[in-house]
Amino acid sequence: RSRNGHEPEFIQAVHEVAETVIPYIAKHDIYNGKNILLRMVEPERLISFRVSWVDDDGEIHVNRGYRIQMNSAIGPYKGGLRFHPTVNASILKFLAFEQVFKNSLTTLPMGGGKGGSDFDPKGKSDDEVMRFCHAFMTELCRHIGPNTDVPAGDIGVGAREIGFLFGMYKKIRNEFTGVLTGKGRSWGGSLIRPEATGYGTVYFAQSMLQTQGKDFSGKNVVISGSGNVAQYAAEKAIQLGAKVLTLSDSQGYIFDKDGIDTEKLEFVMDLKNNKRGRISEYVDKYKSATFHKGATPWEVACDIALPCATQNELGGDDAKELIKNGCICVAEGANMPSTPEAIHEFHTAKILFAPGKASNAGGVATSGLEMSQNSLRISWTREEVDGRLKDIMEDIHDSCIQYGKDEDGYCNYVRGANIAGFVKVADAMLAQGVI
Ligand code: NDP
Repeated sequence: RSRNGHEPEFIQAVHEVAETVIPYIAKHDIYNGKNILLRMVEPERLISFRVSWVDDDGEIHVNRGYRIQMNSAIGPYKGGLRFHPTVNASILKFLAFEQVFKNSLTTLPMGGGKGGSDFDPKGKSDDEVMRFCHAFMTELCRHIGPNTDVPAGDIGVGAREIGFLFGMYKKIRNEFTGVLTGKGRSWGGSLIRPEATGYGTVYFAQSMLQTQGKDFSGKNVVISGSGNVAQYAAEKAIQLGAKVLTLSDSQGYIFDKDGIDTEKLEFVMDLKNNKRGRISEYVDKYKSATFHKGATPWEVACDIALPCATQNELGGDDAKELIKNGCICVAEGANMPSTPEAIHEFHTAKILFAPGKASNAGGVATSGLEMSQNSLRISWTREEVDGRLKDIMEDIHDSCIQYGKDEDGYCNYVRGANIAGFVKVADAMLAQGVI
């Protein structure tokens, strides 16, 4: 704590893991006395660099770029890039730390990393975003590679940004390799990668509901965010017969009393991905909806809640409200959206609760499948990738049950995911010695 005391998000993420993993270590001699967790919380490498770029008016801007190479015990570093004004070392270290456990849970050979910049793509022209991405990759390219570190997208980094980043990597290194995932279909991307995190979150929630003989059909679902994860979580929930009532962005949420159907969701995808508009514009088109400025959707009564926007967006009071209104299942699409107080409420009420490192692992798992296809230079069908994604989410669910089930039958998925993720990485670190 003394070394990282100025990094609140990182401390929060480590605390959550330590709480469940330390008692496990204490009971297992092979991990005891090896300072494994102490080694895991220190990044193998933290790279910080200047990104200078020129805007459309000729003015020069300077942003800070980062890549955190957290742990490579079980495979090359793997994890997204985030472009958002709030990005700093604490947020990226929390994300990189979570990523190590998440990647381990996927059963695929991927270490953990994360990176990004405090650059804000909002309000920038395509040319400005391109110049920024090119400047960012000019430095990042010397630290990554298909067998070293394979970045992907995250908040503010979607298909457009991955294209610009990949183009510059290819130009500098003069090689066409699977160095980034989330690529376009015609240049090495995998089918289902755009959908994977949202779909995977719903598949995981489905597995949780099945333990109680329930499913999505006819359920009211509340979703936060309206970006990549939220859009495809909504799509899969609708396909499974649920009624999706809300979506949001950083300005507020929309509530559609008739539900957001496939056609309305298409409008949202066009609005957010092509027109880069605000979710409030939804109510101009659909009169069944209302916009709630500055609010989060947790006040809306629902059966299932899927937080898919950002960290710490669902607090203790929000959790109490959800439980009071009859919510039976919360699966995190975002990374660490629930505060420790919220998680405490969910566990006390014994409702189904999945932490992001388990329920949103479908994105990175499918990135792992994209890496395999790139190495083999083949392209699997949609059904093949979706089938593998479903199997992986079921395997992750089984691992959580294995390590997280209490004597009374209630599954603490936080403990399950933390211990299952820890064991694989710790075993590899022990085998490789003190390095
Ligand atoms: P996008 O950039 O596509 O969308 C982010 C969404 O969250 C937008 O609706 C955005 O609203 C909202 N948001 C961002 N910051 C805030 C904030 N401070 N307060 C309220 N709303 C906010 O990102 P993704 O959908 O890719 O990522 C969402 C979450 O899922 C993140 O936590 C990410 O780490 C996690 N994740 C993503 C994966 C992926 O494959 N993409 C994989 C695993 C996890 P606005 O437009 O107003 O900023």
